[in-house]
Amino acid sequence: MRDTRFPRLSRTSEPTASKPTVVSEPATSKPTASEPTASSRTLRLSGTVDDSIVDGPGIRFAIFAQGCARRCPGCHNPQALDVDGGRLVSIDDLWQRICANPLLTGITLSGGEPFEQPKPLLTLAGLARAHALTVWAYSGYRYEELLAGQPSAAARTLLLACDVLVDGPFVAALASFDLKWRGSSNQRIIDVAASQAHDTVILLNI
Ligand code: SF4
Repeated sequence: MRDTRFPRLSRTSEPTASKPTVVSEPATSKPTASEPTASSRTLRLSGTVDDSIVDGPGIRFAIFAQGCARRCPGCHNPQALDVDGGRLVSIDDLWQRICANPLLTGITLSGGEPFEQPKPLLTLAGLARAHALTVWAYSGYRYEELLAGQPSAAARTLLLACDVLVDGPFVAALASFDLKWRGSSNQRIIDVAASQAHDTVILLNI
């Protein structure tokens, strides 16, 4: 959902060398109507950036979930919107790749819409936090929507597992390359734990 980092998004959405080489399912694997898109250990993935320096502080493993139902006008990552696009990957394989880089500060969940696949990403967020990696997430949903259980109760659980949420849809008219860690000025960089503690939105002090 961090839509303004054009070079990074194209890097994740095109078949370049930056794409994961470890894929647990064949690229042609598609869920059927009776199958879930992803289980708690399988994610439908658009792509990754293994050593991002633009998706939050430090060096981060950025995960771009495939699929987004929001359809914001001007979304310039349309290739990440199809819920049947991308490919299925194992959370275990993603975690192995994360562990292979001791320089990582944390992981970043983006998309597409990561909160529409909360269960596998919650698994990954739990692993990351248990190993002292911070968890950032970008979402087209607002903090208040996620906290209220939209688009699902599991999305709320994922929100509370994140250190930081950059919320709200990308708005092309409000876009600027001068904004740090966000694409358009309507988006907020929220300290999730502080917001929970004070029962109001607390922006990250950056
Ligand atoms: S939330 Fe909006 S801008 Fe972000 S991926 Fe979905 S449609 Fe595009």
